[in-house]
Amino acid sequence: MTQVIEALNNGENALLQSPSGTGKTLSLLCACFGWINKRREEYKNSQAMFEYERNQIVLSTKTFSQINQVVEELSKTCYEPIKSILGSKTNLCVNKRVLKDENVSSINEGCKIERLKQTCTYYSEYKKSNI
Ligand code: SF4
Repeated sequence: MTQVIEALNNGENALLQSPSGTGKTLSLLCACFGWINKRREEYKNSQAMFEYERNQIVLSTKTFSQINQVVEELSKTCYEPIKSILGSKTNLCVNKRVLKDENVSSINEGCKIERLKQTCTYYSEYKKSNI
């Protein structure tokens, strides 16, 4: 954690290494959230506060289950960040007609067809919402 804080203080990149199962991800996230919270407190009511309000942490994992694991572990800490999870259609699609296809390329093709034909109600609702 010391190296993470040091890198954040100096605005540097850090290449850190630790064996599997030692809690790297959670340690890194907690160090970052703690650092951001401290900065927000230090710069409270100042123009620089906006800088720290916009801080984002982007975490990329190899598998979707790793993201779920991180979210679950994070919920046990005192930090409650706003989370946005991005994943592939195979993980996040909710259209049952498309999900009946069993392989990734069929799901991608099914999604493409549903969007073109405007038959995916989820996609239509999303488009209407102007998000
Ligand atoms: S647009 Fe529809 S079909 Fe495509 S991923 Fe989203 S829910 Fe599934």
